[in-house]
Amino acid sequence: MAELEYALVLGTNLARVVGSSPTAGTMILLSTPVEEIPKIGVAYAKKLKKFGIKTVQDLLFYFPARYDDFSEIISIKEARHRLGQTVCVQGQITEIENSNTFKKFSTLTEAVVQDDNSEIKVIWFNQPYLAKSLRQDDFVCLAGKVSLYKEGVYLNNPSYERINEIGENEELTHTGRIVPVYSETRGVTSRWLRYVIKPLLYRFVEQIQESLPGEIVKKYEFLPIQEAVWQLHFPNSFEHADAAKARFSFEELFLIQLNVLKEKVKLMLKKSPACPMDADLMKKFTDTLPFLLTDSQKKCAFAILKDLEKLVPMSRLLEGDVGSGKTVVGAMAMLNVVKCGHQVAFMAPTEILAKQHFKTVSELLKPFDVKIGMLTGKDARIYKDSETFEVSKKSFNGDLENGQIDIAIGTHSLIQKNIIFKDLALVILDEQHRFGVEQRDHLIKGKKLVPHLLSMTATPIPRTLALTVYGDLDLCLIDEMPKNRKKVKTVIVEPSQRKDAYEFIKKEVLEGKGVFVIYPKIESQASKLKEAIEKHGPMTGSATESFVPQNYNLNSLASLAINEVKALKEEYERLSKEIFPDLRITMLHGKMKPAEKERIMLDFKKGEIDILLSTSVVEVGVDVPRATIMMIEGAERFGLSQLHQFRGRVGRSDMQSYCFLFTTDPSMLNRKRLKALVESNNGFELAEKDLEIRGPGSLYGTVQSGIPDMAMQGLSNIFLVEKTRAAAKEILEKDPELKNHPMLHERLKQFQQRIHFE
Ligand code: ADP
Ligand code: MG
Repeated sequence: MAELEYALVLGTNLARVVGSSPTAGTMILLSTPVEEIPKIGVAYAKKLKKFGIKTVQDLLFYFPARYDDFSEIISIKEARHRLGQTVCVQGQITEIENSNTFKKFSTLTEAVVQDDNSEIKVIWFNQPYLAKSLRQDDFVCLAGKVSLYKEGVYLNNPSYERINEIGENEELTHTGRIVPVYSETRGVTSRWLRYVIKPLLYRFVEQIQESLPGEIVKKYEFLPIQEAVWQLHFPNSFEHADAAKARFSFEELFLIQLNVLKEKVKLMLKKSPACPMDADLMKKFTDTLPFLLTDSQKKCAFAILKDLEKLVPMSRLLEGDVGSGKTVVGAMAMLNVVKCGHQVAFMAPTEILAKQHFKTVSELLKPFDVKIGMLTGKDARIYKDSETFEVSKKSFNGDLENGQIDIAIGTHSLIQKNIIFKDLALVILDEQHRFGVEQRDHLIKGKKLVPHLLSMTATPIPRTLALTVYGDLDLCLIDEMPKNRKKVKTVIVEPSQRKDAYEFIKKEVLEGKGVFVIYPKIESQASKLKEAIEKHGPMTGSATESFVPQNYNLNSLASLAINEVKALKEEYERLSKEIFPDLRITMLHGKMKPAEKERIMLDFKKGEIDILLSTSVVEVGVDVPRATIMMIEGAERFGLSQLHQFRGRVGRSDMQSYCFLFTTDPSMLNRKRLKALVESNNGFELAEKDLEIRGPGSLYGTVQSGIPDMAMQGLSNIFLVEKTRAAAKEILEKDPELKNHPMLHERLKQFQQRIHFE
């Protein structure tokens, strides 16, 4: 029945669809599960599911990642002169046979292909079935690299397809055109996808209904949807592919905007508790601080306190570089809300951080008689009357529900089902910028009043993202550092200077300072290797080189195959036995229990550890003012924003601090990136640089945000973001429920499911 409805929405001509069904009696529609397509079946359907492809429609909207340009077909004679180039030729097979190579694992298929006045040898590796599917006298179109071997030139592992005669170039799929290349998974190759998708396009493309409103298609001169889908898979030219891409980039961003704006309108109709600003109290608070607030801190605090006075829910993002002092600003908001008689939830991404915040906030609010609770996976604690108690979770929950706790600080534990606040008026999220809006939803639980939301982050989030992915948040920015800070000196350390760096570290430690050493995670490399081995067999000999992905250096592969902790332990042994035998060194890594990590961090803070050797787990929020050196191994493995975050762990006092970058890959691109870090101390500039050098995927939090590729590409374009925003506004103003745009409504619903899915 659902199918029928969908067909009606799509305006499909049911009679025609039924008539064209391959398995008599079943109706094939865009919504038909892929396993019902004879060429696909259950086994392939399972594999496709890994890409999120369940229906014919999903498959048609599975777009290629890139294209191979095989569009120029040349004569074999000409091809023989193009050594080292990728060419496309047509000809007739005069010989074809398989042979086993002297290496056990591989078969060679050798053929000779001839056209009017020349011939060329062709070699395929490991495709023994080829000699069965291609036979002598067949006409073929081939696209591959012209390579040299002892007896002459040959075509190396070309893409191929059978044709009826030389000169045929209509309807080629794998050669002789711009050929789509898709992201592949084991058993689903681009060739197979082309083979499946093309006939489906012929059959179903007409069922795809335009989802963008007609006036938008017209205004921006977009390709109509059916044409755009075709051109993305099998473009006539690269211009056509780009035009199709532009359309879908727009559409994806437009959907994000519609989603965000609709949510915003919904939220604006709700009410929040209004908490008038108590200026005297705020002054009392700042008088207790051992420092003066920076102007930026004051401005942000004021903006937040003003928002809290309103009945409309606040949705604000407080951005400020690491160490810029966001916590104090958050504390002012908390204090004001508590003194208005309401509760606050303060959420941190990790237990360590939650505990640190618990201590900091208890300390900051000590003079003000506030009851503060902390809840993590295992612990529950309460701070009141200047003392901290361990309590059971049950009594913690009880206190929260009775309003005996004013501020609850914790991890995700705070949004469990059984946690009930008496009167929650403010939610603060630290360093977890994604979907703050959804987390707020969890905390509301059907209550009439909606808490205000403040999200704090050191991650520079460009305006485009703040407006889109993060749900149309208001921004405020702490753009200056506390006055007492010295700029962290950042140095790229050449291998020859390693000794000097170690000497320098010794000297600093003798003066009582702390040192971080960050060792890169290598797990993912090792698992990539494992995958490659499973796919291609063990890697020996030169024959294998032809199918090992190009970016793998065979010699270094073995060294990567050790796991993260083991590598860290080896480095620990080296540092503690050879380099710094007299110093106190401790390891910290992600596989440790939170309690252990916390104890280590505390010892480091107190000065009982000199050098903390760690994987990237110290990244966010940890505050150890006595640490003055951040030494990063394999710095090229990290993004600029991440390196900047590491660097922000030092320079948190009035002492001069240093950041040493070690790199094992001195390529120009890496140099350029690391140099940017030496030159800039500004997280925003660095994020922009990362965006420029590594693309939007480098932006923190966007990778796993479920944001589609096309939209991601569009996100680096503020004009496109603003255009789609304006378009979404215009539509919603005229048609807030999208009643007059059923296709758009449908697409939006699908889109929402997609991003809520993870
Ligand atoms: P972040 O913005 O990274 O969360 P924190 O709030 O942890 O930074 O603050 C870093 C350190 O700077 C803390 O020790 C805090 O007490 C201190 N601090 C905050 N504001 C100021 C200021 N205006 N002047 C001097 N030190 C400050
Ligand atoms: Mg912080």
